[in-house]
Amino acid sequence: MEERKAEILAKSVERRENELIGYLNELVRIPTFVPPGKNYARIVDMLIPVFVDFGFQCERIDMPEDVYEAKQKNDDLRGARANLIATKDTGADESVLIYTHLDVVPAGEGWNSPPFETVIKKDRVYGRGVADSKGSVASLLTALSLMYEQNWDSKYNLTVALTTDEEIGPYSGLCYFADEGLLRGDYCLCMDGDNEGIAIATNGVLNWEIRVQGKSCHSSIPFMGVNAIEAAEVVMSELEDVKKKVELRESKAPCGSYMTDISGQEHIKPVFNVTMINGGVKENIIPPSCTLRGDRRYIPEEDVSDVIKEFEDALEAIKRKHGIELELHSKPGYPPMFTEPDTEWVIEVQEAVSEAFGVAKALIGVQGGLDVAYAVQKTNQPVCAFGVGSFLDGNAHGADENVRIRDLKDYVKFLVGLLT
Ligand SMILES: [Zn+2]
Repeated sequence: MEERKAEILAKSVERRENELIGYLNELVRIPTFVPPGKNYARIVDMLIPVFVDFGFQCERIDMPEDVYEAKQKNDDLRGARANLIATKDTGADESVLIYTHLDVVPAGEGWNSPPFETVIKKDRVYGRGVADSKGSVASLLTALSLMYEQNWDSKYNLTVALTTDEEIGPYSGLCYFADEGLLRGDYCLCMDGDNEGIAIATNGVLNWEIRVQGKSCHSSIPFMGVNAIEAAEVVMSELEDVKKKVELRESKAPCGSYMTDISGQEHIKPVFNVTMINGGVKENIIPPSCTLRGDRRYIPEEDVSDVIKEFEDALEAIKRKHGIELELHSKPGYPPMFTEPDTEWVIEVQEAVSEAFGVAKALIGVQGGLDVAYAVQKTNQPVCAFGVGSFLDGNAHGADENVRIRDLKDYVKFLVGLLT
């Protein structure tokens, strides 16, 4: 960016601190935590006039009841699945899709301030969602307001998608938008995630469940039955080998430096976990069944059908070796995501980030999954995920979630730099 403009931008962002925190406060005060996610309509209705003021055309799009029933609804959810799509045609040749989610996780316990209000302490704002991901929405609104008043047109046509149920899945508002073909744009900027690095790769997720079958009988004569918990123990110890084999692989995508510091890992890897175990009826009954559950996170280089096949084959071998009766049920979640690091869009995003934050941020992969991966699998857009919260101390999803005011402001600068 030319020097004069950079100066105006920097000053203008400083002047807008109150506006920025005002937007954030309005967003945080609408409790869009999920479950139940009952206030999406309220937050979308609040946002529409703001976007309209900046020259956008807006549409509130509720997920239709039949789609919701079939793909997302459960007993814990309430209210309309209201999403926002805001578009501005600037007559540019290229278009950018800007996305993040409007839902947050529930407050949980241990807060030192009311979670659904913004509280400023020292150089930070506290409140549920300020880091993940309402802070980036507030920064976007501030960036658009600044561009509007300075008469700085976006060099891209803009589509902004702010959607529901990312934190709970499996079928978020963004997935619905993707299936409906609403996510137009040559490139995608995902404002979800943290600001440790610019994420160009994520793992895919496969949730799984193994039902181990036994035979109940009186516990005083266990030889008359089959103890499903003991059989599950055998399965678990055999699964150790699967875990070792899977976790030896690694992606070509590097992981962030903090992760390298903690784990010694240089690249993202697949993950295999047993995370739940359920079984048994009573102390004196030999358990008739036991269920193991877990997740298998797979790198972009792995194919989900191979992942399932590998798992099925391993279980088949365990079944044969030990004569255990079991059944596998697996349920794919978000797919993996990968954008080549030398893509022009990635380079542009990285340059804009580095200029705004005054430090070079690395291109990284993360081992978690994002719903935007589902979207770009359909749209084929090159995508970068870069959020506003600090990976180290933002405490997203925890008590006292917070964001540095400096990071919010630098995020505004990043957006303006990228778009103008
Ligand atoms: Zn998020």
